[in-house]
Amino acid sequence: MAQEGEKMDNGTQTVLNDCPFCGCEATLEESSIFPMQYAVICNRATCAAMGPKENTEEEAIAAWNRRTPEPPRVTKKRFCEIIDSLRAADDTRRKVNAIFQRSCDHIENDFMNAAALQINHEGIVAELLALAMGYEGDTLEWWLWECDYGRKFKLGSFAEADGTAIDVSTAKRLYEYLKKERIV
Ligand SMILES: [Zn+2]
Repeated sequence: MAQEGEKMDNGTQTVLNDCPFCGCEATLEESSIFPMQYAVICNRATCAAMGPKENTEEEAIAAWNRRTPEPPRVTKKRFCEIIDSLRAADDTRRKVNAIFQRSCDHIENDFMNAAALQINHEGIVAELLALAMGYEGDTLEWWLWECDYGRKFKLGSFAEADGTAIDVSTAKRLYEYLKKERIV
């Protein structure tokens, strides 16, 4: 995520947006072959996206930043907080269910099931989160429910088309994945 901009002496923004392809940070570099040629290059070696070569540092930064899409409308911090809340609510629901089941085993009654008592907003929250991320896919729902809020996620169970494992073991990593895969 781009930070608050420092200014160069001439007032130009020096802030580099994250790589539009992989979301990693990027660095301004001067060409080792052509002096006075500058370009911004993604820090992630396996991505190595490079911005247009320009004659000044400012132009190279501006050109790189122009190609970077707008960031998601939900920050990584907020995304993780929302996921934590959903997981905490689910924990509570399970505990309440367990208590009811212990004390009311003889009563056949759906009302004893806290999940049935609770108006379930999770599907809506998941949909809104995906919208805020600009992501169109069911990875978020899969992660929440199939992977039990990430708890049952196993590295290797989720992979790129070429077989490369994708790590979404935490909400933070899930955010990074959705950000990378989003359609803007
Ligand atoms: Zn990159």
